[in-house]
Amino acid sequence: MGINDLIIKHRKMPSQKKIFEHWEIRLDSIYPQQCFACSSLDTTKLERAHILARCNGGSDEVDNLHLLCRNCHVSSETISGKKYWQWFKYTFENWVEITIARCKPHINMALNNLNDLERGEYDCVIGYQALEGQSDAYDIGYGEQYQKEQTVGGQ
Ligand SMILES: [Zn+2]
Repeated sequence: MGINDLIIKHRKMPSQKKIFEHWEIRLDSIYPQQCFACSSLDTTKLERAHILARCNGGSDEVDNLHLLCRNCHVSSETISGKKYWQWFKYTFENWVEITIARCKPHINMALNNLNDLERGEYDCVIGYQALEGQSDAYDIGYGEQYQKEQTVGGQ
């Protein structure tokens, strides 16, 4: 084990609370437990991200650390200093589009995991026509959901 390993082992990063308190009065619209950049609410997984990277001489002090969600930390990992602030401003101003773009693969993945019955229900819920030539389970799912909506709508 080299001296660098020892230094890394003994580095003390300020707590997330300390970092938040430092930036709360310096940045507009940041809230506890939300990513500073994209505002996503993440109560457990916010990460301490360096503004000026450590390898560029950045410190582990509160004024060089932001609290970011995993996605933002990964997006900003290779940028540092002035470039980081440009990225930060862009992300902060475009968080709606960015959040939607990040969610899309998850939504698609979730849809791919539906069984036929659930897919039938889903198509009905979002107002699609029932697809032709699907399995019985699909037709049942669609049909049951349709019935449910008729009943609720008729009351
Ligand atoms: Zn984020």
